[in-house]
Amino acid sequence: MRLLIMGPPGAGKGTQAKAVADGLSVPSISTGDIFRKNVEAGTMLGREAKRYLDAGEYVPDEITNGMVRARLDELTEGFLLDGYPRTVAQVEALDKILADEGTTLDRVLVLHVDQDELVKRLTGRAESDGRSDDAEHVIRRRLEVYSEQTEPLLDIYAQRGLLVLVNGMGEVEDVTQRVLAALHQTG
Ligand code: AMP
Repeated sequence: MRLLIMGPPGAGKGTQAKAVADGLSVPSISTGDIFRKNVEAGTMLGREAKRYLDAGEYVPDEITNGMVRARLDELTEGFLLDGYPRTVAQVEALDKILADEGTTLDRVLVLHVDQDELVKRLTGRAESDGRSDDAEHVIRRRLEVYSEQTEPLLDIYAQRGLLVLVNGMGEVEDVTQRVLAALHQTG
């Protein structure tokens, strides 16, 4: 299984990616987590990425694409990519990576959560996790960047017949079951 999980910041992508990947026995790969780990470790990648993360902006495509290619090249079977691709250029880069391996994507999961709930969850997370990009103006910017740069990707994958839309409202476990059921139903 080669899957993507998409949705706006606060939709629960990270949490669901881990649970769904466990359920399917594939690794979940979060570009956000890789960037944050590099920032913490003070690597060169982390030093480059930090200012973008802190501003709620996307890290430039060349940096992100190179990092994802290196990670996917290490894998032999499937994966669940969380938070990538986020731009049209990243869609093209991923197509190329997969084509070089002679594979394609199986499905693109999209978590849908109401706008009010998104803001509530992101503000709550700011208090509990202390993420540096969860300040209110950064949250607003991240939602804007998502709708400008990433939402249009849903059309691309819809045209390819890959989208699986899942209601992301409610309890974490219920959403995970919905995702797994939706994957089984779509064959
Ligand atoms: P996330 O944890 O997925 O919400 O990502 C946190 C931050 O990491 C984003 O706001 C971006 O600054 C950066 N990031 C994660 N994934 C990507 C990506 N595919 N392209 C560019 N920047 C990314």
